[in-house]
Amino acid sequence: NTPIDFLPQLTGCFAQPAAENPTVAMVEAAYQHHGLHFRYVTCEVSPENLNAAVNGAKAMGWSGFNCSLPHKVAIIKYLDELGESAKLIGAVNTIVKRGNRWIGENTDGKGFLQALKEIIDPDAKHITLFGAGGAARAIAVELALAGAESITIVNRSKQRADEVVRLLNENTSAKAFYKPWDEKYAVAPSTDIIINATSIGLFPNIDEQLNIDFNSIKPNMVVADCIPNPPQTHLLKTAANKGCKTIDGLGMLVNQGVIGIKFWTDTDVDAAVMHSALKKVLHIKE
Ligand code: NDP
Repeated sequence: NTPIDFLPQLTGCFAQPAAENPTVAMVEAAYQHHGLHFRYVTCEVSPENLNAAVNGAKAMGWSGFNCSLPHKVAIIKYLDELGESAKLIGAVNTIVKRGNRWIGENTDGKGFLQALKEIIDPDAKHITLFGAGGAARAIAVELALAGAESITIVNRSKQRADEVVRLLNENTSAKAFYKPWDEKYAVAPSTDIIINATSIGLFPNIDEQLNIDFNSIKPNMVVADCIPNPPQTHLLKTAANKGCKTIDGLGMLVNQGVIGIKFWTDTDVDAAVMHSALKKVLHIKE
């Protein structure tokens, strides 16, 4: 006789706004597929209520949770410890309970790295990264920790890029550089990997294009885009037409879920199940 257990392990997401976050669809699809007695609850939490929400999760014995905008930095003061990259990035999006301690991790860059490594190992590679916001910072830190030789940050705002460049040069072995982006940018021929971590191309602005000299993209370069919706951006379509290998932002998002679930349940879940659940709720047909 199987003992009856009506008490699932709880996980979820604290965000504001929360309703537009599709993570629940892919995480619960994985829980169901693997028969994990877990639930994922999306919670609308205002900045004033973050402390109470964290205490609530602790009181109810949650296994962990994600936090999204605007809590990624504010959450840190309620945690006991940070993972290596979360500490460097200065932001947390996944919290996991280990014993009685609450640990903050950042999976933004880890999800990207996992998708990238299926195509190319960033070790000793030259990378051109467009953007210097939260996603770019997380990706740059993970690439540097994974042994990237150089990371050139191309960004409109110099101040934001300078912060990332300093962070990398002071804390990692990667050589980081800033390049201004006030005119059409030509990618250096020595580049191995090109990454778009700006918000250019995100639905509904799907026709917006990066100001790049597309002739500078060569077939031997791997081209990645963080935009999850639509996954096939103008940049990726252009690069694929040139014969480049490409990586889309949907894989990055799914991998973040896979890594989060591994933290909470210690189970390696099937990314394909999560990928199709996500495509279904986002009405992505490609
Ligand atoms: P931020 O707001 O922190 O950063 C936005 C970045 O885009 C900045 O570097 C900004 O430059 C740049 N940017 C925006 N508009 C333009 C423009 N018109 N021309 C040039 N640069 C521009 O956002 P995030 O870093 O959090 O997110 C960036 C993108 O990554 C989002 O679209 C998000 O959907 C995606 N993302 C995907 C994830 C995934 O799992 N697939 C995970 C996290 C994010 P500036 O500094 O000059 O303003």
